[in-house]
Amino acid sequence: MNYPEHSILFINPVFKQMLWGGNRLGEDWPYQIPGDNTGECWAISAHPNGDCTVKGGKYDGYTLSELWEKEPDLFGNTGLDRFPLLVKIIDAQGYSSIQVHPDDAYAKEHENGSFGKMECWYVLDSKEESSLVVGHNAGTREELREMVHKGEWKDLIREVHVEKDDFIQIEPGTIHTFGGGLMILEIQQNSDITYRVYDFDRLTNGKPRELHLDKALEMITVPAKPLEDYIKKTGVMPENVMNLLIECEYYRVWKLDVTKPVTIKQDQSFMLMSVTRGEGTLNGNEIKKGDHFILPYGYGDVNLQGDMQLIASACNV
Ligand code: ZN
Repeated sequence: MNYPEHSILFINPVFKQMLWGGNRLGEDWPYQIPGDNTGECWAISAHPNGDCTVKGGKYDGYTLSELWEKEPDLFGNTGLDRFPLLVKIIDAQGYSSIQVHPDDAYAKEHENGSFGKMECWYVLDSKEESSLVVGHNAGTREELREMVHKGEWKDLIREVHVEKDDFIQIEPGTIHTFGGGLMILEIQQNSDITYRVYDFDRLTNGKPRELHLDKALEMITVPAKPLEDYIKKTGVMPENVMNLLIECEYYRVWKLDVTKPVTIKQDQSFMLMSVTRGEGTLNGNEIKKGDHFILPYGYGDVNLQGDMQLIASACNV
């Protein structure tokens, strides 16, 4: 069934300055950024630390959390108590801290009922010196503790170069970070809980940022999964179809490269979309790189034209 009153919801992003951020969100992306160390664009978020607003239309100016609460119809009445996902674009010139996220069960118990954090990364751009850290080399929890306490980071962490179009799913308990000029589109559970393991001995205002070693050491999966299981190459996927990149208990993510007129169906409770390259139209609405929007419940047929790439996601309920 189609709900014509459920029209496209364009979203205004929120920007975050970070120690390790850069200026590419203002140079290569069409954003007004707050400064030269802008690390994150929270593109579609209803998290209290960065609640996006709706741009234009009937709900102009509503925050996403407000809309979620007042108009559950738009989101297919999922029954979830909060907006489940968070989409970011990240400019990592330096490295963010080496970190791990809790799962739902651990976060519920230790973090005031917050969600845990499953996240995934689609690499938008990579340089020769770009890399990411995913997993570690410790064989047992005892060995992990020992290496962390002795500060043997080089031997402990698993660092790997990734290319544009690589896709990586980071489960809770996976030690991770990235940087060196990587641009990433991240889709994650709506949570901001991070246990910092190592911050490269950096200082902010003369002080090191807090580490959360006890919690991290409890959460880190030992041994880590093999590296090959993490990195999926997506550059060779066919154009003009929705390529499913991942389906897990929290979300589904697709990549769609449009090079000719194509019609897809919005048959999810609601669908989040980000234009990551080029420009075109969606049911007559002009869209271009850097636009983020939600297609509500019952949106029906989605006619796309132009030359562009979209990354779409939906919550798995
Ligand atoms: Zn993370």
